[in-house]
Amino acid sequence: MSENTYNIIIVGGGIAGLTSAAYLSREGKKVLLIEKNKECGGLVNSFTRDGFHFDAGVRALIDAGIILPMLKDLGVQLEVVKSPVSLGIENEILHIENLGSLSKYRELLIKFFPESEEEIDEVLKNIRKIMKHMDVLYGIENPVFKDLKRDRDFIFKILLPWLPKFIFTIRKINRMNMPVEEYLKIFVKNPSLRDMISQHFFKNTPAFFALSYFSLYLDYFYPKGGVGKLSEALKNKIIECGGEIKTDTKIIEVMVEKCLVKDQKNITFKYDQLIWAADLKTFYKIADTECLSLKIRTKFEDVKNKMLKNRGGDSVFSLFLEVDEPLESFRKIAHGHFFYTPSKLGLGETHKEELNYLLTNFEKVEKEQILTWLDKFTRLNTYEISIPGLKDPELVPPGKTGIIISFLAEYDLFNKIQKSGWLDEFISELENRVLSVISDSVFPMLKDRIIVRFSFTPLSIENRVGSSEGAITGWSFQKSMPVINKIQIADRSVLTPVPSIFQAGQWAYSPAGVPMSILTGKLAADRVLKQMKKFRKT
Ligand SMILES: Cc1cc2nc3c(=O)[nH]c(=O)nc-3n(C[C@H](O)[C@H](O)[C@H](O)COP(=O)(O)OP(=O)(O)OC[C@H]3O[C@@H](n4cnc5c(N)ncnc54)[C@H](O)[C@@H]3O)c2cc1C
Repeated sequence: MSENTYNIIIVGGGIAGLTSAAYLSREGKKVLLIEKNKECGGLVNSFTRDGFHFDAGVRALIDAGIILPMLKDLGVQLEVVKSPVSLGIENEILHIENLGSLSKYRELLIKFFPESEEEIDEVLKNIRKIMKHMDVLYGIENPVFKDLKRDRDFIFKILLPWLPKFIFTIRKINRMNMPVEEYLKIFVKNPSLRDMISQHFFKNTPAFFALSYFSLYLDYFYPKGGVGKLSEALKNKIIECGGEIKTDTKIIEVMVEKCLVKDQKNITFKYDQLIWAADLKTFYKIADTECLSLKIRTKFEDVKNKMLKNRGGDSVFSLFLEVDEPLESFRKIAHGHFFYTPSKLGLGETHKEELNYLLTNFEKVEKEQILTWLDKFTRLNTYEISIPGLKDPELVPPGKTGIIISFLAEYDLFNKIQKSGWLDEFISELENRVLSVISDSVFPMLKDRIIVRFSFTPLSIENRVGSSEGAITGWSFQKSMPVINKIQIADRSVLTPVPSIFQAGQWAYSPAGVPMSILTGKLAADRVLKQMKKFRKT
């Protein structure tokens, strides 16, 4: 094979691409992983500034029967600690310690909504039911990461007894696929109560997915040294197995017929098989399929149209703070992973109808109107607050604390404001408001203790990982999805209309996140290996 020719090229060094590359290089294949940024990891990434370590993407991990089995299967060591969660509304904070915390959650909600006790009980009944389903769903190590040819104990003692329960559970789950907002309306009349339960989820999140979070809160863990250590561990595995990684290399064209990918310097790399583990809209836009058979081209165009018609899901705004205050001051208030809502009123239509109005009438709307909306949005929102030092004290300089405050944010708003030329001003106004809301409520010590602050917007996410509409977990929840969204047929999610090209990651299956990105990364690697075996035989 010549220098630039590989058995498999993987485009996208996020967690999905890293997984595919680790598995394929372990099999001794000639593998090239191509990543556009200086470092791999994509949205599973940590960085250091002034001695403070921050997580740029996901703040903590949920195993989901996938991450730890994958690491075990690959023989990758990763030191992890628990990442306990706190939930807070106004001045009440609940630390989620175990299943019993659900009763405390009930008490917390009743304290704020005493007139809705029956409705709260109904919600809790549903959450308990879902927790049981979750125990089944994530109850065993995902078989995709087990050696099913050799591990007979796993097949007979674990997998086979589990399968009927799994099928039963999937049927139940499929009945809870409607958007959580709609689902809650069935038995919760008070819109503020509905907001307290669900406003920190993506728009139209399937009810099962959203309400399962109480169970997932108990599962969060954190790699020592930051979330990015997971990506680093996989990167090291790829190198150890002889795989090649090219960073700072952006693929700008896929010449499907010639099996070539071209980077920003016009250098081409040849593959036998390609795994696209990055934004799928980008792939369909830059793939040249001109010389393919009519049948494949037609199918390709069909899928492309579906992809381009759909939108990426919600994005986030993250405010990073370097604070001259010891970790202890924050530890007294909440755990290092904290969902906090400063007002029990809830967002109502603020982030829906009211924002839609501003966006549709953007040309006519005054800056002041947007800032007034921003006042309300920041006062009523729910914040995901992460304090890496509370999970691993080595992540901050002594006596100081690093904090990340984030919340769901609409890409179109930032995009329009950037086009009108006042993005920096808007970001500063937004940061000021978030800081004033948080320091007037849960963390008063923030008032005069901030050394440095900076933030990432949905536009930063789009720029950094090339994700359409700055999405952080792939497609938005719409009626029709351009990708597979049923777990029973997840193995098909990695197929594209071109037999030598596979897809993986958050765009290949929906709903996605770290575990599904890893799963599809492994499924794509399995398909590639199967195909290679088939070619060898023929
Ligand atoms: C703030 C935040 C909180 C989150 N919370 C959670 C959570 O609680 N639970 C959860 O499961 N998930 C969460 N996520 C989502 C999760 O991090 C992502 O879904 C997951 O990491 C996606 O991995 P991926 O490999 O599929 O995609 P990405 O991480 O987007 O990786 C794609 C990679 O491809 C590269 N790339 C793109 N285009 C090109 C190109 N043309 N050429 C070469 N390289 C290219 C990008 O630079 C990137 O490195 C969160 C994300 C964020 C940002």
